[in-house]
Amino acid sequence: MKNESLPVRALLAGARKLMDEEVALLKKLALIESPSDDARATKACLEFAATEARKLGGRVKVHKAPPSGGILSAEFGPRRVAKHLDNQAAKRIVLLGHLDTVWPIGTLKSMPVKQVGRKLHGPGVYDMKAGVAMALTALRLLNEAEYWRDSECAVELLLSTDEEIGSHASRALIEEKARGAAAVYVLEPAQGLAYKTARKGTGNWRIDVHGRAAHAGVDFEKGRNAINELARQLERVAEFTELKRGLTVSAGLIGGGGKTNVVPAHAWAEGDIRISKKADAARILAKFRKLKPIDKDCLLEVAPEINRPPMERTRGTVKLFERARELARELDWDLTEAATGGASDGNFTSALGVATLDGMGAVGLGAHAVHEQIELDELPRRTALVAALIAAQ
Ligand SMILES: [Zn+2]
Repeated sequence: MKNESLPVRALLAGARKLMDEEVALLKKLALIESPSDDARATKACLEFAATEARKLGGRVKVHKAPPSGGILSAEFGPRRVAKHLDNQAAKRIVLLGHLDTVWPIGTLKSMPVKQVGRKLHGPGVYDMKAGVAMALTALRLLNEAEYWRDSECAVELLLSTDEEIGSHASRALIEEKARGAAAVYVLEPAQGLAYKTARKGTGNWRIDVHGRAAHAGVDFEKGRNAINELARQLERVAEFTELKRGLTVSAGLIGGGGKTNVVPAHAWAEGDIRISKKADAARILAKFRKLKPIDKDCLLEVAPEINRPPMERTRGTVKLFERARELARELDWDLTEAATGGASDGNFTSALGVATLDGMGAVGLGAHAVHEQIELDELPRRTALVAALIAAQ
């Protein structure tokens, strides 16, 4: 049996009614500070979200994922559907997000959660506690519309607590849950007003140069200047960027030496890699690995790494976006799509070949910045659209 999709206008009316409660939920989430590297803090935020998911009838599990504070999974929809996913008609959708923020404990003192006009300010409101509140509210809308009764669709809400530091502890579970899903909807912040259909893959690199120390006055010619060698290598690295391919390599940190009158024995630099195409991972790693010392008496240690594959604009993703745009049109909303250089956990699910749509969360500005804020009036229609997309599966 095919799901009858719910009318998106009715969902919007429902979302407007729930808006005050949605904002209250967001405020509560933002008041539980949850920096990625503080497992106890993120766990507290996760427990709060778990309670909210249980209230909505979600079958909740809290997965341990050290050193992070854990991962929340909450399954919605008929048990028979969730259990028999090999059944042709049965579909599973993953709603993906994270509860951690970049803000350390105590940030609330200088950056309180506060409403100014029609905007809500506070640590993590935009990236992405509003997205979490939206996911929970969208599920509530589906509950209230009695959507699950004869649904052939199960939804898995998945919230991690280490996204901002690379998702090392949560990646395996995210990939496990995404495999075989009909769609992954990522509630990360919007790009302007747009949904995100492509994200760059990310990586980093480090180069260490080992030269030979010497007195800069007495033994100058015996020294092998690691800083000079590093500077030459960095010139080469700068040329790895191929803007047209969407491949960029940036130096971000540098260090070395100790005293002005010593020829330095050691210097290092670290930086960032972004790729638009999966195939460019091997290409850029090979370029780094081919670096050879220019001064043969210096030793190079080169460590490049790609940690998130790009989220490419695949046919599956485009199909999801087209569906979203059609539904939005019924609300007289001209939904657009965008590509971004920033990565999310959507990169992992997309790289598995699972149709992934991202940037479905809040509209606002100032992610990772002191002026972080969201537009409250954008919440209802974006929340309704998440619910409508699930119902249209
Ligand atoms: Zn985020």
